Amino acid sequence: MTTGALYDAVIVGAGVSGLCLARALLEAGEGWSILLVDGAQDDDALRTLSFWTSAPGPLDALVRHRWTRLVIAEASGGARSVTLDSHRYQTLFFADLQRTVKDSLRADPRHRIIDGRATELVTVGDRVRVTVGDEVLQARWAFDSRFRRGTFEVPEGGAQLLWQRFHGLVVCCETDVFDPSSAVFLDFRGDLPAGTAFAYLLPFSPREALAELVSLEPIDAERALRAYLAKVHGVAALEVLDREAGSSPMTEQYFEPFEGDRIRRIGIPAGMLKPSTGYALTRILDDSAAIVRSLRERGHPMVAPPRRRLYRFLDGVFLTLWARWPATMPGVFSAMFTRVSADRVLRFLDERASPWDLLGLIARLPLWPFLRALLSWLARRLRRVAAKPEPAYNDTTMKRTDSHPPADRSP
Ligand SMILES: Cc1cc2nc3c(=O)[nH]c(=O)nc-3n(C[C@H](O)[C@H](O)[C@H](O)COP(=O)(O)OP(=O)(O)OC[C@H]3O[C@@H](n4cnc5c(N)ncnc54)[C@H](O)[C@@H]3O)c2cc1C
Repeated sequence: MTTGALYDAVIVGAGVSGLCLARALLEAGEGWSILLVDGAQDDDALRTLSFWTSAPGPLDALVRHRWTRLVIAEASGGARSVTLDSHRYQTLFFADLQRTVKDSLRADPRHRIIDGRATELVTVGDRVRVTVGDEVLQARWAFDSRFRRGTFEVPEGGAQLLWQRFHGLVVCCETDVFDPSSAVFLDFRGDLPAGTAFAYLLPFSPREALAELVSLEPIDAERALRAYLAKVHGVAALEVLDREAGSSPMTEQYFEPFEGDRIRRIGIPAGMLKPSTGYALTRILDDSAAIVRSLRERGHPMVAPPRRRLYRFLDGVFLTLWARWPATMPGVFSAMFTRVSADRVLRFLDERASPWDLLGLIARLPLWPFLRALLSWLARRLRRVAAKPEPAYNDTTMKRTDSHPPADRSP
């Protein structure tokens, strides 16, 4: 059944990027009508969203916790606390983002939220058709955040691909054990596998915290996390209030953001995940703002996210180091935060570093591990060039494509 309304925008997926874009479109105040296709989250998917920033941002009203001190700890037990000067590290709850955006959409009858999975998304002339159940709906532009984790891979011999596995517990302890003034940003202590796993801990109060284990290898995460909490934070008894889990692909591979002339990918399928950190929210917010700007100024949203080739190269070398010599990583992270100001490191990780920041940071990194990783990265690229030319891939399932980008897509 084809439904008559023509929406200005259909957003496929009510996850982080879908909700952030819907919010940005609503805030623009241009009266654009929005159809949000909510395919629903898995029960134990992402619960909290953390990021650092040095400026006011669009989600400030939703932020629940902020920290200006970060702890970085090597496996040997050496923990270092750094104070942020211009930045703050902050956390919001996904449920708050979901509730506020959906409430705003429901408040205006021009918008619609439809529950269900989109089974087809096709461009027909100057509109996009999306099929959800037995309904076919239409929009002028589509924003697609579907990502097929199960089938995602990078071309043979090309970019690195590491899967970052997250397992988080929101815990409540019987006694005061946490220091709410500091967020534990990177912690390799607690008998975690050397370099392939680390913990972070965001204390919401002296008794309550989100403890998260991030691992590159399959691991009994809950057991490891409980052991980490007992050994490093002295937690004797705890109650688990909530859980989150999921995985993210860390790769420097380019993600094509366009599918034809009317479908713009967003979120992970548009390359919004920072390859070397696994954080995406800041980039998603920047991308949403760029889409709104393009709609206003050019009348279409088909704006390309910045390519930033230098950062992709640095990410590639960094991921090579992590994949091949993981045991060096605790020392590398520790050196970064010891030798360079934390604000500078965060600017670098956010790809907002000045050339001066960049030079200062690279000059202070341990030379040998990165030199070795650079040589390995180069050898890999050379093997790839010798093997065959790079094919053009059209989506995250890595199918070949003959589709061409629309004419106007300058960043
Ligand atoms: C556990 C975990 C914690 C993370 N924590 C942080 C963090 O603190 N800070 C940070 O910056 N990044 C974090 N990330 C990384 C990143 O921000 C998240 O993965 C984020 O969810 C990416 O947003 P997205 O919109 O691309 O994907 P998603 O949020 O997964 O959204 C995609 C949506 O599309 C829906 N969908 C899929 N198929 C269909 C379909 N056919 N029809 C309709 N809908 C469909 C899915 O159900 C999902 O809701 C985390 C990742 C994980 C896994």
